[in-house]
Amino acid sequence: LPHLAFAGRSNVGKSSLINKLANTKKLAKVSQTPGKTRLLNIFNVDDRFLLVDLPGYGYAKVSKEMQKQWRKMIEDYLITTKDIMILVFLIDSRHEPQKKDRELYEFLVYNDIEFIIAATKTDKLSKNQLNKNLAVLRKEFKVPDYRFYPVSSKTGEGIKELEDYLKLTIDNFYKE
Ligand code: GDP
Repeated sequence: LPHLAFAGRSNVGKSSLINKLANTKKLAKVSQTPGKTRLLNIFNVDDRFLLVDLPGYGYAKVSKEMQKQWRKMIEDYLITTKDIMILVFLIDSRHEPQKKDRELYEFLVYNDIEFIIAATKTDKLSKNQLNKNLAVLRKEFKVPDYRFYPVSSKTGEGIKELEDYLKLTIDNFYKE
């Protein structure tokens, strides 16, 4: 089955976004599979694709050694998995670009891994501040417009757009 992967720093809002997408029915209900390991959460969605929840990286309370292991595991997964349709790269819209996010970005670009950006927690900022921050993120993490999705799992803003894109990606995968 093709993979749809989600990655982002700890606390970026990954679980919330996955739950939001999984609950809107379009992407179908998510159920736990035996493929679940301690570090990678893999969900089989309707036997149509695997939703892969990569561990949140850069969590300060975790030891350096553990962080290294996580990073290695994420990179190994991304390099060795041939059928990743797309990776959703979550970045917190409240913050300046972070070192850990830059590292993942560079890694994705270098390894030719297709990704889209979900700029999360947009409800936490004023319109003005949000626009400023999004401009900074877009400048730093270069993707075409149709691959950049400001979202709020709380208000649902931007969720439909992201969901439509993912749905299309999955449909196209099966058409080819
Ligand atoms: P994860 O560690 O990346 O899986 O992040 P979570 O989904 O657990 O979210 C971390 C925290 O941010 C939780 O307290 C969430 O309630 C909060 N959160 C996540 N998404 C949003 C959002 O879109 N808006 C707001 N206001 N809070 C959010």
